[in-house]
Amino acid sequence: MSEKKSYHMSPEEFRRHGREVIDWIADYHENVERYPVLSPVRPGEIGDSLGTQVPDRGEPFSEILQDATERILPGITHWQSPGFHAYFPSNASGPAILGELLSAGLGVQGMLWSTSPACTEVETRVLDMLADLLGLPEAYRSTESGGGVIQDTASSGVLCALVAARERDSRLRTNRQGCDGSQVAYCSTQAHSSLEKAMGIAGLGRANLRQIPVDEHFALDAARLAAQIKADRADGLRPIFACATLGTTSSTAVDPIAAMGRICQEEGLWFHVDAAMSGTAAICPEYRHLHDGVEYADSYCFNPHKWMFTNFDCSCLWVADRTALIGALSILPEYLVNDATRSGAVFDYRDWQLPLGRRFRALKLWFVLRYYGVEGFQYHIRRHIELARRLVGWIEADRHFEMVAPTPFNLVCFRHRGSDELNERIMKELNGSGEIFLTHTKLNGRFALRLCVGQSRTEAEHVEKAWSLVVATAKRLRRRAT
Ligand code: PLP
Repeated sequence: MSEKKSYHMSPEEFRRHGREVIDWIADYHENVERYPVLSPVRPGEIGDSLGTQVPDRGEPFSEILQDATERILPGITHWQSPGFHAYFPSNASGPAILGELLSAGLGVQGMLWSTSPACTEVETRVLDMLADLLGLPEAYRSTESGGGVIQDTASSGVLCALVAARERDSRLRTNRQGCDGSQVAYCSTQAHSSLEKAMGIAGLGRANLRQIPVDEHFALDAARLAAQIKADRADGLRPIFACATLGTTSSTAVDPIAAMGRICQEEGLWFHVDAAMSGTAAICPEYRHLHDGVEYADSYCFNPHKWMFTNFDCSCLWVADRTALIGALSILPEYLVNDATRSGAVFDYRDWQLPLGRRFRALKLWFVLRYYGVEGFQYHIRRHIELARRLVGWIEADRHFEMVAPTPFNLVCFRHRGSDELNERIMKELNGSGEIFLTHTKLNGRFALRLCVGQSRTEAEHVEKAWSLVVATAKRLRRRAT
């Protein structure tokens, strides 16, 4: 017989190890700059260092924690490092991590209002508050015709919006019988791939997504959108959905939201706005104009898990008319029937998302909103944008480099003059150095370096360091080539 009385961790042990884990996380964040930003491990290296079998006997927690930190850390890419400039950030903060911990501690599953009323009601209130903070239209409030819901990601958000649009168009027929291939949707050539993926998943067909050309600033050409909708209608198709992006992934371009919104209203299309990262900027009054035209939108999505200090995952989706979303996604088997649902007086968020079960994500978001306050968010957003602008100034002053897209927010797209290969080599050397991590895209068919300033701890010194590394690396490679 094992000497253990119980296989569970006692509250005393939990208290002790919990402190160790919090200490570990605090040390990690304090020292995160010591690690190579991009993990240098080879494929399989981390997996091979782990055991292959579940132990017969449970192991002491301290050993597990030690293993987790020693064996796993080399395979971590440090998204929380101030030298992380790749993709879009997935930043975090103390209050968010502690809110997440509290949510795990409560361990509730909030599929229905009745399975934890607070899980639903905190979420509803937090999303109403956030709609105010971003200056979103009144209709998005839970007290009006709409409301907000937290999804895992913007990909799920756009899929939910697309399914709602599909059902609004077919009056719920496609939910029962499937699609007939006649429904088409629109976005720009720069829209995120999640919409194309959603078209396939929703049964609408990826080929039924029209990718409208963009102007010289990589923003959708509204006249071409209007023309394409008319051409599709003339071909007997049913235009049902259009997506505007506020801050595209490649270059943070902003589509003409008001012009697209008017077209969608005239043509009866569901209008979705994807503001995944850049929507956060609207917290600052000087960026609020970005939301001009959002009053035409049927749905709007942005990710606090990108640029709003709320650790992954946390994506907010608002709809102007919740009945369209709920009508498309609701299904009520007998085992979920309860008095609160029957009364119609509550939201059951299972009807607003793809899965049934759901985490108490609103808790971390509530913590973050209260901890930073409007002032805190504005301070950091302005700081990041200002640092990105400084970088633009240095790039423009260096004859070896050129800007390749406007910088409306905190993403800088640039390249070394010359070949794509040279730019790719610069990027690989920089990432291999472990000092910074940045990624690329293609703009107008040419390789472009993307450097995003959005990490919670990124300060002026880090952006200065990143730029001197870029310059030094380029110089070295130029010398090597001659
Ligand atoms: N939309 C845009 C504009 C994005 O940049 C991204 C990701 O970077 C997404 C959607 C997808 O985000 P998620 O990972 O939340 O699905």
